[in-house]
Amino acid sequence: MLTLEFFDAKHGDAFLTRWGDGGDRAMLVDGGPTGLWEGSLRAALLPRLPRSGVGAPTLDAVMLSHVDDDHAAGLVRLLAEIRRARRDHKPDPISVRRLWFNAVEELVDRVDPDLSASVQPLLDDAHHDEAVAASYNQGREIRDAAEVLGLQGNQPFEAPLVCGAVTDLAGLAVTVVAPDQAALDALATKWRQAKKAKDPGVLAASYTDRSIPNLSSIVVHVEHGGRTALLTGDARGDRLLTGLEQSGLVAKGGGLHVDVFKLPHHGSINNMEPDLFERVTADHYVISADGVRHHHPNEETLEALVGARGSADKYTIHLTNEIPFAATKLADLQDGRAFATRTRAAAEPVIRVELS
Ligand SMILES: [Zn+2]
Repeated sequence: MLTLEFFDAKHGDAFLTRWGDGGDRAMLVDGGPTGLWEGSLRAALLPRLPRSGVGAPTLDAVMLSHVDDDHAAGLVRLLAEIRRARRDHKPDPISVRRLWFNAVEELVDRVDPDLSASVQPLLDDAHHDEAVAASYNQGREIRDAAEVLGLQGNQPFEAPLVCGAVTDLAGLAVTVVAPDQAALDALATKWRQAKKAKDPGVLAASYTDRSIPNLSSIVVHVEHGGRTALLTGDARGDRLLTGLEQSGLVAKGGGLHVDVFKLPHHGSINNMEPDLFERVTADHYVISADGVRHHHPNEETLEALVGARGSADKYTIHLTNEIPFAATKLADLQDGRAFATRTRAAAEPVIRVELS
């Protein structure tokens, strides 16, 4: 059994993957934007978690796709809550066995050892820039929490998660698709430019246009009992295909079919590769968005997805929220086509895709 439960993460991402006998294994991917953890995610997550031997709600892994508020904030809160409990000599409210996330410093140092240390003073000065400071501080908080909680080092990867890395997480086969070398190189180039110009504004620009953080978004392909999911964070569509090829999941120019395809970047059309939906097909497509802060999913993305499939193809497009403009577009597209749509019911904390 492989089950994915997508929370209402507003304009961000937060979802739970469960597998094994009766779903006794669980991984939380991303934690939604500021306010989500205390507002709804904590209450929705706790009853869904398997219990370990001593009865504590347990997560086999927590994965942060990338350090951006709409994915990271909830996980910062989760880790802070565990730290607080330990400080007060209380049991962990949630037992977290592994933490997977790529510290930006580790990524740039992989390309250029010691580069991050030399840019550090610039970043410390960048607190006046809100965008940089927010992402940077969340990254640092997660790194610090990982160290305090003994969750550092991306076990069992023992290194940043990069394209081609594989592991078996208690029966879940995990293959890392992104970031690939080109993404790491682009990231290091930005950091070198900032260092040369002695200007953290160079990094600020990259945070503002989102291309660099999104470029380094972790993408994983997971498989359990023959069921598969492609979990794409905010990755760029153009990097997904090269990552799938480089990780060996797709032959050069070939295609991939998965049970579940979580669309990258909330269904944004930016950097969407035209043949992405032709080469990656699924029985279930999931879009995590609310259409409020950003116009996500873009109508062009829905058109591209549906246009890539045959009109008799049976598949389902799932939405975490009721979004009027997306619903209108999908209703138009359904004319003469066999696909179905599902939207999380307002009273439900999740929209569930269960694969038996
Ligand atoms: Zn996002």
